[in-house]
Amino acid sequence: MLRRLRAETVLAGIAATRRSEQRFKSLVRHAADLILICDTSGTIIYRAPTAETAWAFSREHSPDEMLSRWIHPDDQAALHEIWQQVAAGPGVSNTLELRSRDSQDGWRNGEFTLTNLSQELEVGGIVVNVHDVTERKLFEQQLITQAFYDSLTSLPNRALLLDRIEQALVRVRRRNGTVGLVFFDIDNFKRVNDGLGHQTGDVLLVAAAKRLAACVRPSDTVARLGGDEFVILLEQLTSDPVAEVTQIAQRIIKEFRKPFLLDGKDYVVSGSLGIALADTATKATDGASLLRNADVAMYRAKSDGKSRYAIFDANMHTDIVSRVELEADLRRALERQELRVHYQPILHLESETCIEVEALVRWQHPTRGLIAPLEFIPIAEETGLIIPLGLWVLEEACRHAAAWQLLYPSMPPLQVSVNLSPRQFEHADLLTDVQRALEQAGLSPASLRLEVTEGVIMRDTESSIRTLQKLKNLGIRLAIDDFGTGYSSLSYLKMLPLDVLKIDRSFVRGIGQNAEDDAIVQAIISLAKSLGLAVTAEGIETTQQAELLRQWSCEKGQGFLFARPLEAMQISALLDAPQNALLGRSIS
Ligand code: C2E
Ligand code: CA
Ligand code: CA
Repeated sequence: MLRRLRAETVLAGIAATRRSEQRFKSLVRHAADLILICDTSGTIIYRAPTAETAWAFSREHSPDEMLSRWIHPDDQAALHEIWQQVAAGPGVSNTLELRSRDSQDGWRNGEFTLTNLSQELEVGGIVVNVHDVTERKLFEQQLITQAFYDSLTSLPNRALLLDRIEQALVRVRRRNGTVGLVFFDIDNFKRVNDGLGHQTGDVLLVAAAKRLAACVRPSDTVARLGGDEFVILLEQLTSDPVAEVTQIAQRIIKEFRKPFLLDGKDYVVSGSLGIALADTATKATDGASLLRNADVAMYRAKSDGKSRYAIFDANMHTDIVSRVELEADLRRALERQELRVHYQPILHLESETCIEVEALVRWQHPTRGLIAPLEFIPIAEETGLIIPLGLWVLEEACRHAAAWQLLYPSMPPLQVSVNLSPRQFEHADLLTDVQRALEQAGLSPASLRLEVTEGVIMRDTESSIRTLQKLKNLGIRLAIDDFGTGYSSLSYLKMLPLDVLKIDRSFVRGIGQNAEDDAIVQAIISLAKSLGLAVTAEGIETTQQAELLRQWSCEKGQGFLFARPLEAMQISALLDAPQNALLGRSIS
C-alpha cells in the first residue's frame, strides 16, 4: 500500500513537472493506456487507476499475480525474451505486441512498452504501458483480406495465388513431387454480361466459383484472377499427375454441362481449361511463368473449340506470341492502309461471262506478305475489329462496283457480293452503314449482294429474319453462303427473304466422283429452285464440275477454273476484254 502511494506520487510528479519529456512519453503514451508496475520477476505490484478498460488484468486480482498469467500462451516466449532484456538493464525500454486476456475470456491485442525504472527509488520496478491495438489489428486484417481475397467470390486473388504457387514450387524443389495449375475461363462470358446484365454476370461468377471448388479437394486452392478467369492450384499429386489433373479437368467440364439458374431461366455455360504442370525436372519455373503457361494452354483449348481442356507444351508459346502480334498488327492495319480487297469473278455458267464479283479481303502485311482472310478474319471477329474492317471492305467494294458499272456498262449492270461476318450481321449500325456506303459510292442497292453464312442466320432466326427483311427493304439482294454446312431447317429457309443460295465448295469438290455429293448438289439446286432462289456454285476447279453443274441447271458459279480472286486492276482488264481474259483461264 505504501509502495503504491509512493508510486502514484512519482507518476503524478513526472506528469506534472515533465522533468523528463522522454520518460513521460514512455509512461503515458495514450490517454486510454493502462499502466502497470511489475517487479523484475514479472509480478504485478501496481495497477494505475485508469478508467474501466477491456483488459482482464486492469481489475484487482489476487496479490502477487504474474503479468504472464494474462498473456496468450503463444506469446509467452516473446514476453519472456523481452522481459529478460529489459530487466537486465536499468533505464532500458522496449516495445512488443502481445495478445492478452480481455474481461470476457477473449483475446485483445496490446502494444506493451516495458521500461525498467527499478533504479528510481519511488518506482522500483518495470513500468508496463499497455496500448490497446485490437481495432487497428482488425482493420489490418481487413486490409489483408482485401489485398488477398476477391470481394465477389471470397476466393484467393492473384496475389495470394502467386504466393501459394511459389510456396508449392519451393516444396516441389525440396522434396520432389508435381504441382498442377488449371486455368479456367468461362466461354462467352461477355454474352452473359451484355445480355443479362452485370448483376446476373456476378451471380454466375459466384456460382461458377462454387462449382469449381466442389470439383477439387479442400487442400487445393481455387483462386479468381479477375473477370471470368479462375485458377486451381493442385498440390500433392500422385504418381501419375497428368492423369490426375486431366481427370479433374474432365470433372469440371462435366459439372459445367449442368445448367445455371440465372434470372429464373436455365443457362448452360461452358468453360475452357488450360493445364500446366511443374516438377523438379521443370527448370527455372516461377509462379508467374507457370501461370502464363496454363493461360496459354487455356487459350489453345478455346481456339480448339471451347468447353475442353488443353495441356501446355512449349510449342504453344510461339503460336500464341505470333497470334498476339498479329492481333496488335491488325489494329494498325486499317490506318496504315494495309488491307486490300480482291474480287473473284462469278460467271454465268452457260455463257461464261462475268456478271458478278465477290469481294474478298486480304492483308498486305509489312513483313509476312499477303495474309489470307481465314488467318485474320477470326481474330477481327473476336476482337471486334471486324466492324471497322468490314465497313471498309463494304465501302471499297461499293466504290469499285460503281466505277466498273460506269466504265464497263452491261445489262444487267455488274453486281458485287460482300461477306458479312456474324458480328457485323448482328451489329446495330448495320443498316445505316450499308445505306451510307451505297450513297457515298452512288451504287444502286440492287447491285449489292450481302452474303451471310447459314450458321449466322440459324443462330437467332427470329432476329435474323428481321435484319434480313430490313436489308431487303433497302433493295439489297441477300445470299446464304456456304450452304449445306450448317443445319438449316427447311421450314425456316422458306421464311427467310433470300435471293441466292451458294453451294459450299466442299460439296462441289466431290461431284462427278462421289455419288453422294452428286445427289446432295442436285437436291440443293432443286430445293433452291422450289424456293425461288438463284443458285451459285462455289469452288469450281475442273471442267467436269462446270459441265455437271450446267447440266443440273445451276446458273452461276465461281472457282479457280475460271479465275482466282483478282486485284481491282485485273478485274478492270477482264471487264474491258472479257473474251480474251477468260479464254485463257489462266488468270491467277
Ligand atoms: P467464302 O465467302 O466462302 O469465299 C470463298 C472462298 O473460296 C475464297 O477464299 C476463295 O478464294 C475461295 N475459292 C474460290 N474459288 C475456289 C476454288 O476453286 N477452289 C478453292 N479451293 N477455293 C476457292 P478466301 O478469299 O481465302 O476467303 C475465305 C473466307 O474468308 C471467305 O469464304 C469468307 O468467309 C471470309 N472472307 C473473305 N473476305 C471477307 C470479308 O471481307 N469479310 C468477311 N466477313 N469475311 C470475309
Ligand atoms: Ca462468300
Ligand atoms: Ca462461301
